[in-house]
Amino acid sequence: AIILGIESSCDETSASICIDGEIKSNIIAGQAVHAKYGGVVPELASRAHQQNIIPTVDQAIQAAKIHKNAIDAVAFTRGPGLLGALLVGTSFAKSFALARNIPLIEVNHMQAHILAHFIDDPKPAFPFLCLTVSGGHTQIVLVKDYFEMELLGETLDDAAGEAFDKTAKILNLPYPGGPLIDKYAQLGDPNKFKLPEPQIADLNFSFSGLKTAILYLIQDEVRKNPDFLEENLNDVCASVQQRIVTILLNKLKKAAQQTGVSNLAIAGGVSANSGLRSGLQALGERQGWNVFIPKFEYCTDNAAMIAIAGYQKYLVNDFVGQDITPLARMHV
Ligand code: ATP
Ligand code: MG
Ligand code: FE
Repeated sequence: AIILGIESSCDETSASICIDGEIKSNIIAGQAVHAKYGGVVPELASRAHQQNIIPTVDQAIQAAKIHKNAIDAVAFTRGPGLLGALLVGTSFAKSFALARNIPLIEVNHMQAHILAHFIDDPKPAFPFLCLTVSGGHTQIVLVKDYFEMELLGETLDDAAGEAFDKTAKILNLPYPGGPLIDKYAQLGDPNKFKLPEPQIADLNFSFSGLKTAILYLIQDEVRKNPDFLEENLNDVCASVQQRIVTILLNKLKKAAQQTGVSNLAIAGGVSANSGLRSGLQALGERQGWNVFIPKFEYCTDNAAMIAIAGYQKYLVNDFVGQDITPLARMHV
């Protein structure tokens, strides 16, 4: 079967073609317009999706070397995300399905981040634990089957990606700052600055205290030395990154101990982080886990993960009607 996947939940317009479970194309149109505002502006995101959606889908079809008429079903991100952004992808998918008289498949974006692990080999066996870390979410999910997932823990305040992006803002780095912190961290000393680890007993997370600690640290140091940031950027980034990564990995370890599950995966934009990737690899070797780390292009938002999730639903005839509407909030 040939599935067209559509993603438009935030600031990436993406389209992908999946043929019998194999991704043949994955076109991602980013939106540079938000950089100067220091964050995603919802109205501008919707407008950019409207401009990008048709050319992005055309490109995905061309790159897969298929004809439009050969598409068997359309899968789209129903939520969670920005409502106005989701509306563009949802409306496009509905019209495409209606015009071609093919089935329509709704996909949960957070489930799709996890199901990106079924694009390439090796694929995780069920059950596995997934730490989903992105711009809007930080979750530990017990994945029992493709669409049977249990939330074991989540953030009580900021998401891990937000912790990276807000720290970057304090350091005067442009949005989104996560990848930049990663870059500078690789040149710095992670033990230079001591940052607190939040004391949360269960499998939940909290990152807002860390953000405040970083703000106070920088303010204190800059008062003493106005050039502090320029002189210590790499070490600050390395220290912050190490703290975020240890918070994440300590909870994942705890979840593995509590559940007895030894297949461990990471997903979402922050799973592109070099410190998290190497940290999980090392921890997995010590613990005897099977570790699953996505390819870079499937960490941040993409339609390949929507298409692969759609393919799994296609196999069990899990379709929706034309009355479907997007949802800003959705549980895994
Ligand atoms: P959600 O999936 O929760 O709806 P989103 O779709 O906006 O949110 P993603 O696209 O999955 O999130 O991830 C974007 C986030 O990933 C941003 O916060 C960005 O800073 C972060 N990120 C991307 N690459 C890295 C990296 N190398 N290191 C740290 N953070 C990163
Ligand atoms: Mg994005
Ligand atoms: Fe995402």
